[in-house]
Amino acid sequence: MPHANQPSVAGTSRCVPADAPLETFWQTQRDELHDLRSTEALPEHSDIVIIGAGYAGVSTAYHLVKDFPDVDRSITILEARGVCSGATGRNGGHARPDLYGHVPKYIERAGARAGAEVAEFEVANLFALKQIIREEKIDCDFTLARSLDVWCNEEGAKQAKAIYDQMVEHNFEYMEDVIFYTGDQVEGICGVKGAKACASFTAGTMWPYKFILHLTRLIHAAGVNVQANTPVTSVEPDSTGGYFVTTPRGKIHAGKVVFANNAYVSGVLPQYQKSIVPCKGICTRITVPEETTPPLLNNSYIHRTEDNADGSIIVGGAAAVFRNHEEQWYDNVDDGVLIDSAKDYYHGYMQRTYRGWEDTGAKVDKIWSGVMGYSYDLHPHIGCVPEAQDQYIIAGFNGHGMPVIWLSSKELAKMITMNIPFEKTSMPRLFQTTQARLDRALNGTVEDGDILGGGSPSATKP
Ligand SMILES: Cc1cc2nc3c(=O)[nH]c(=O)nc-3n(C[C@H](O)[C@H](O)[C@H](O)COP(=O)(O)OP(=O)(O)OC[C@H]3O[C@@H](n4cnc5c(N)ncnc54)[C@H](O)[C@@H]3O)c2cc1C
Repeated sequence: MPHANQPSVAGTSRCVPADAPLETFWQTQRDELHDLRSTEALPEHSDIVIIGAGYAGVSTAYHLVKDFPDVDRSITILEARGVCSGATGRNGGHARPDLYGHVPKYIERAGARAGAEVAEFEVANLFALKQIIREEKIDCDFTLARSLDVWCNEEGAKQAKAIYDQMVEHNFEYMEDVIFYTGDQVEGICGVKGAKACASFTAGTMWPYKFILHLTRLIHAAGVNVQANTPVTSVEPDSTGGYFVTTPRGKIHAGKVVFANNAYVSGVLPQYQKSIVPCKGICTRITVPEETTPPLLNNSYIHRTEDNADGSIIVGGAAAVFRNHEEQWYDNVDDGVLIDSAKDYYHGYMQRTYRGWEDTGAKVDKIWSGVMGYSYDLHPHIGCVPEAQDQYIIAGFNGHGMPVIWLSSKELAKMITMNIPFEKTSMPRLFQTTQARLDRALNGTVEDGDILGGGSPSATKP
């Protein structure tokens, strides 16, 4: 097959992450491997070069070495900043399967089975995560709890109930885990002031930076060469079927290239320019003074994650507040500044939102922004880069990578190692990157796509 890379766009703002991101709560204590360089110089050649050391890049490397221990090959990860300092190190830590939010859209697009595949895959991810965290003894504050979606206006509540009923009618087994509440008791059940409906189901919360750094330690020990602070500026085919991957520290020759650089992927794969767009989100950590004891929040909620070991709360979202200010978040890679229209939203958030929190003194302790790869049609792009040889992509997870990436990277590692097509993996068919999806984005308008309407399920509700 021919190499079909378009010219790279090195030097454009989309190519590499910003130099000076705002500090996040998760990284207040940096891991000793944050700036890991396994060797002083870049290797001259690597059988597999992975671009990006976030959740997608590091877990792909993990599966390559752990699931195929007998395959002898060299693997290098090139990371523009420190390990896990993209979206994964800046998110809300909520691993929450989308069981009905966008599923009706997927069903309309590709049929009931295709829609159910996505939800089933996300549930499977949650339990696979739980298992690997136990097996590898990863200290990352992982908890499984009931997550609550809450609707505070009558119309939204009615629509949500209609969707719930529609999903139940499909007899999808995973819907047995969802309990939907309406009526006078809702506010008492969920604790959210003015709640008109809520849905409860199983979800996870975790400390993503600790998880990824633990995996980094494992892959480094298994021989993966990790090179932090090494941005890739171009990937060009050589004459013998491999690639030259260029960085400011020199070139590395690669047999296969895995693009796991999320929001920035079109900087080195321009054909994805309209399919995966960098979009900013915002997150906060809220603390309460030691002397107060606020009401217990047993659940994790949409837009918030409870349960740091120290009792603080992580709240993200606020998309409804900033969505109309496109210039502040759309096609924007600057996580060195907040989103102006949302930066004050969290002051008094707990007091406004939760019953019994009025006098707790809860206040914003830290606030930061992060950059997500929003996908034109909401689905991640995974698999072989169309019309290219030995290039793979795993990117475009919107604000929703936590319940998707673990098993996606496992299946991608199979594709890379066993040379099997996407169709032979267990990934939902809608995740496959295809020329048709790229063309649809290239030929469509921004309004035709799904990004402005909310790239993540958790961005769509108040
Ligand atoms: C504020 C915020 C809140 C979120 N909350 C949640 C949540 O609660 N639940 C959820 O499921 N999802 C959430 N997300 C989304 C989730 O974080 C992402 O879907 C997921 O982390 C994507 O992982 P990734 O590995 O694909 O990308 P990233 O973690 O962004 O990793 C990509 C890496 O590639 C590197 N890179 C980029 N360009 C280059 C280059 N040219 N050369 C070398 N390296 C490069 C980057 O520095 C980065 O480290 C949130 C995101 C944000 C920003």
